Amino acid sequence: MRVVVTGGAGFVGSHLCEALVARGDTVVCLDDLSTGRAANVAALTGHRRFQLVEHDVTTPFDVDGRVDAVAHLASPASPVDYHARPLQTLAVGSRGTEHCLELARLKGARFVLASTSEVYGDPLQHPQTEDYWGNVNPVGPRSVYDEAKRFAEALSAAYRRTHGVDVGIIRIFNTYGPRMRPTDGRVVSSFVTQALQGEPMTIHGDGGQTRSFCFVDDLVRGIVAMLDGSEPGPVNLGNPAERTVTELAALVLALTGSTAPVVHLPLPVDDPTRRRPDITAARTRLGWEPMIDIDEGLRRTIAWFRVHDDIRPVVLDAVEPPRVVLDAVSARPAGALGDAGH
Ligand code: NAD
Repeated sequence: MRVVVTGGAGFVGSHLCEALVARGDTVVCLDDLSTGRAANVAALTGHRRFQLVEHDVTTPFDVDGRVDAVAHLASPASPVDYHARPLQTLAVGSRGTEHCLELARLKGARFVLASTSEVYGDPLQHPQTEDYWGNVNPVGPRSVYDEAKRFAEALSAAYRRTHGVDVGIIRIFNTYGPRMRPTDGRVVSSFVTQALQGEPMTIHGDGGQTRSFCFVDDLVRGIVAMLDGSEPGPVNLGNPAERTVTELAALVLALTGSTAPVVHLPLPVDDPTRRRPDITAARTRLGWEPMIDIDEGLRRTIAWFRVHDDIRPVVLDAVEPPRVVLDAVSARPAGALGDAGH
């Protein structure tokens, strides 16, 4: 297959690009490098079946040649990132998604949208099944991400109904692994870097809130299964093993051998109290099942962070005031991206 991966230089996207190239696919990675890094795909640089094109997908674009599938992952994804880029987050979920859907329509390609468990908001149903419509504050600080993804889902579903585009929607739950940024403010990357540096482990609230954590290799298998099939979704992809944040902190301390103290900070606004996917649909329709448990996944993640400790973790409360970066993104003329003839 020739696959366009938007957001391919990000945490999840870079693992997806590697998996696709490894099985023989050709990948055109479109990324504006706003939260991703070229270093994430350094292992693929120069590969004849891989191309990184720096482009903001909120600006119209075309890709030369055949395209069999579009995996649309481009979006700020962590609270630190989408709070810093509220308008760009809405733009990439709406305009960016439309441009990617147009590409899939014109090329007759499969389109997979990376949506999120955040569409469930602070869920009133537990665990979350795909037919649960969610409990989202449409004007709260998290709404720029949650509503952008809900709009992206609606737009994708409308492209399927209106234009017959072969759309598949996945709802990704908390995923962790190598190449998370220590500065992204997510709980696993923050705990691991804090523990390794012997700095206080910052738990927001009392730590009794639960999350389910999926190792990135498991998620990527699920995304590939979705790309290969014709399942419309939405399908939850996550690991249903549920942990409290306090349990996660204890596990990280044990696995790193750290004696870092634990400190409690206020909960962010609209922080969900519980999150756990019902993955019956992924099991039955995709034959997908997470295989890497949290101990093993954390070991691999910690091993990676031990040799990539160059960036300091951030504490959510210490994040700089929101910054709009739309002006910083160069407005490129619409043009063809990617090489023809792969
Ligand atoms: P990430 O920030 O590491 O990756 C996102 C990538 O998109 C980055 O490389 C960034 O530079 C790129 N990007 C952002 N805006 C862009 C634009 N306008 N044009 C082109 N590229 C752009 O985040 P991630 O964790 O890898 O998330 C990938 C996708 O998975 C996102 O869509 C996210 O919403 C979804 N997701 C991730 C998780 C998770 O736990 N990691 C959970 C739910 C959903």
